[in-house]
Amino acid sequence: MLVVANFKMNGNKNFFLKLNETYEKLKIKGTNVVLCPPFVYLSNLNIKNKNVCLGAQDISIVGNNKSTGQIGAYMLKEFNVKYCIIGHSERRAIGETGEMIAKKVKSACENKIIPIICVGEATKQDKSSAVKNQVKSALKYLQPGSKIIFAYEPVWAIGSGQVPTIKHINNKIKTIKAEANALGFSPKILYGGSVNDNNFLQLKTAEIDGFLVGGLSLDTNKFCKLIMGV
Ligand code: PEP
Repeated sequence: MLVVANFKMNGNKNFFLKLNETYEKLKIKGTNVVLCPPFVYLSNLNIKNKNVCLGAQDISIVGNNKSTGQIGAYMLKEFNVKYCIIGHSERRAIGETGEMIAKKVKSACENKIIPIICVGEATKQDKSSAVKNQVKSALKYLQPGSKIIFAYEPVWAIGSGQVPTIKHINNKIKTIKAEANALGFSPKILYGGSVNDNNFLQLKTAEIDGFLVGGLSLDTNKFCKLIMGV
């Protein structure tokens, strides 16, 4: 299993420094953990545990010196970042387009950072092909075979305490897999949206390769319980 922590815009220097100690002591078996702090705290995480590595929450599209305020893939590499969340619904909500996401995915892959591409329908009632379209659009500039991960994150489940049924998750996983396979990719697929220490064992029965976790990652004890239990 792969478990990704999206700390979003939370925590402070002290919080992230403390994680070093916690994760170094953790004897994790069979699960890989990716911690995605805000950019400014990447350098505070220096965890010596072969099952734990660093991810970023976003990446710049353009890679030149006219990108004020942006963080490029090559910079993330210097901080040992192995993964990058791209196209999170909270970024789509502030105007990130499918085109921007496709370029970010390309930039990540070119720099050997594995993109974790977030896709998901906006509402519970949504029966459209939004997820399929998001998958296709994100892969537009990629060479078939590139290493990528999708996170199926229904927007209505993020931070809401609501989770889809296993059947619903499996249907969406099937859609993502079919579209990605047709385009020449074999991604791992994670589930994200209100995963907690009480529901993860049930959610794990879906056909997924792991979790993308938001809120729960801020409670280190509960998050570690999930890591050790999946
Ligand atoms: C997320 O924001 O990616 C997420 C899954 O959040 P939460 O776990 O809090 O629903």
